[in-house]
Amino acid sequence: LVRLRARLARSQSTFGRSLLNLLSRDVLTDDDWDEIEDTLITADVGVTPAAQIVADLRTQVKVLGTRDLVEVRSMLKDELVKQIDTGMDRTLRTDGGGRPAVLMVVGVNGTGKTTTCGKLGRVLVGDGRTVVLGAADTFRAAAADQLETWGSRVGASVVRGQEGTDPASVAFDAVARGIADSADTVIVDTAGRLHTKTGLMDELGKVKRVIEKQAPVDEVLLVLDATTGQNGLRQARVFAEAVAVTGIVLTKLDGTAKGGIVIAVQRELGVPVKLVGLGEGPDDLAPFETDAFVDAILG
Ligand code: GDP
Repeated sequence: LVRLRARLARSQSTFGRSLLNLLSRDVLTDDDWDEIEDTLITADVGVTPAAQIVADLRTQVKVLGTRDLVEVRSMLKDELVKQIDTGMDRTLRTDGGGRPAVLMVVGVNGTGKTTTCGKLGRVLVGDGRTVVLGAADTFRAAAADQLETWGSRVGASVVRGQEGTDPASVAFDAVARGIADSADTVIVDTAGRLHTKTGLMDELGKVKRVIEKQAPVDEVLLVLDATTGQNGLRQARVFAEAVAVTGIVLTKLDGTAKGGIVIAVQRELGVPVKLVGLGEGPDDLAPFETDAFVDAILG
């Protein structure tokens, strides 16, 4: 948690500070409110939530008549928390109750899927669990190599196929291995080629169906690169239409002031952000924590 705060603070707090500066002006004109709204939109909060936040803040400022920075900060914090905490359950389901829990990791290439699989393996192995990583991105040999490196780094076994093997058969084999070895968790890395929407839907749907011949899929985690803004969000939507996503992993939050995307993506997809990526190293994955996140933003 401390790490989350420290890591985020560096990149995010410029956004929070400029908002606080604006809000603590003696008199707030319409132009100021527009600027506040623009600042929120620039941080990828999304147009509708930004308008809502500004409307709520305007009302509160009128009622409280305060310019005190501490009060303004707590007002803004409440607004952001309200937009982020909409009652969605952020618990990551990693307990299969006697059989391996199965997690599918999906998303566009380059967003950080393979890295997330590795980091997640690290967290679970650190918790004393046995983990199997399945390299179901069979289109890129490099992706399977990368996952293998992660496997030996974090102490998880890796199941891969020949390049060009049916991704679903690798996913099947990974789960079969998990069951045979009585592993606690199987994490399946998938391909993220956005070739055609139907191609993607067919492929991810098939991977999921084939896994489910042996064990239910407990989580479908959609990986989204926080630095890609609205474009990334559009692509995420395509994945969410292809397969029932249960949680979002927001990566590369360490290098961007666009943390507002948390609000936009949850709103767009109706799915909670469960994990955040804060760097390229094995320990740079953290559960999403609203309070710590908003505190980091506001500096
Ligand atoms: P994939 O194609 O979706 O599997 O993406 P990769 O896992 O190969 O990641 C793409 C690049 O993003 C790699 O260079 C990773 O090290 C980097 N990356 C992944 N997650 C993070 C993160 O949270 N922060 C930063 N700064 N880089 C990340």
